Amino acid sequence: MARYTCQECNFKFKSESNQTGKKCPYCRKPRVIKEPSAEDLLEEV
Ligand SMILES: [Zn+2]
Repeated sequence: MARYTCQECNFKFKSESNQTGKKCPYCRKPRVIKEPSAEDLLEEV
């Protein structure tokens, strides 16, 4: 499960898939970035 934030409307949502090019379910703009989860931060160290 990954968390995403829309840069267009700042809407946050979760999605199970990790694919890029997601669209915001709120405004439907493709300006969605993946938020680093706690697990991802641990893996980067
Ligand atoms: Zn949006």
